[in-house]
Amino acid sequence: MVKPLGEFDFIEQFLVAQAAQGQGFYQRSDTLGIGDDCAILPPLAPDEQMVVSTDMLVEGRHYYPDVDPHALGHKVLAVNLSDLAAMGAQPVSFTLAAALRGLDPDWLEAFLSGMLALARISQCALIGGDTTGMPGAGPQVFSVTVMGRVACGAACRRSGLCANDDLWVSGSLGDPAYAVRLGRHGEKLLRPTPRLDLGIGLRGIAHAAIDVSDGLHSEVMHLLRASGGLAALLNIDALPLAPDVQSAVAQGQLTLLQAQALAMTGGDEYELVFSAGPEHRDAIAQLGLSLRLPLTRIGHVVPAPQPRIQWHDATGEPVSPELEAQVKQGGFRHF
Ligand code: ADP
Ligand code: MG
Repeated sequence: MVKPLGEFDFIEQFLVAQAAQGQGFYQRSDTLGIGDDCAILPPLAPDEQMVVSTDMLVEGRHYYPDVDPHALGHKVLAVNLSDLAAMGAQPVSFTLAAALRGLDPDWLEAFLSGMLALARISQCALIGGDTTGMPGAGPQVFSVTVMGRVACGAACRRSGLCANDDLWVSGSLGDPAYAVRLGRHGEKLLRPTPRLDLGIGLRGIAHAAIDVSDGLHSEVMHLLRASGGLAALLNIDALPLAPDVQSAVAQGQLTLLQAQALAMTGGDEYELVFSAGPEHRDAIAQLGLSLRLPLTRIGHVVPAPQPRIQWHDATGEPVSPELEAQVKQGGFRHF
């Protein structure tokens, strides 16, 4: 009989051994990684700051229980790197805390390889974590803490929005929410791409940025609330609809307005919304070309007594009160 895998076997066989063999782990010679009570990181350059974020994925809430483990491993790191991207930080390292119902070697191997493939291309080293059993039929939980670096004062914060800024969004929108609506594992829902190169490319250009995890409308509201004294005018006809959503409209499975509502409120996008002065339009267009990533101007920022978003169409007509009400309620809520 094969002895079931224990917590320490998992650490030894999957984490320490692979790290020692250099298989799948992005390693740094200046870092003490997995194996001791703590990891030890080298000092940052004197003019750099460390940027830290944690995000958790809970089975049944943030992902389907039958998800491909390779995709899940990718996603748990991707959603964390997306927060670094929004701040314009360069990834350095991360830790992984996992509460697991059991230790299934095939499942774990696939999960780790999905996670570590992204770790390698992002140059982000797994330096430690914690592993525990989840009693009974409790949901599995994965929590990653990611660490990055940025030049002092250069991180792009939510509060940097300025009157007269343009608002931009990367990539295209609506496909993860459409996949959820159909009860499917959509490609972007499974394997979001953290926009790290964009975040770094926007240093010195963007005034404020945020990643779209819970929905475009609510993310822009976060920027407005953090900055104060501003409102956003946003054009629904400018929203870049994802190809899947466009074809659903073409085939009559969605109305254009339903598709736009998905783009306005759908979560799990992991695109960046950012603001920049109009003088940077050409530089942003160039950046989009060099990254082969569409960057779309969706509106602008005006002074206002209260933070609010006014959605309008291409002719400048405000959207219907029904759509406005729906959008205000929409967006992913964790409770
Ligand atoms: P302690 O009991 O001192 O917290 P552990 O036995 O939990 O130590 O962990 C031993 C080593 O394995 C530590 O270096 C820890 O960071 C690492 N580790 C444990 N679980 C994970 C995990 N899920 N991912 C990465 N490293 C882990
Ligand atoms: Mg521990």
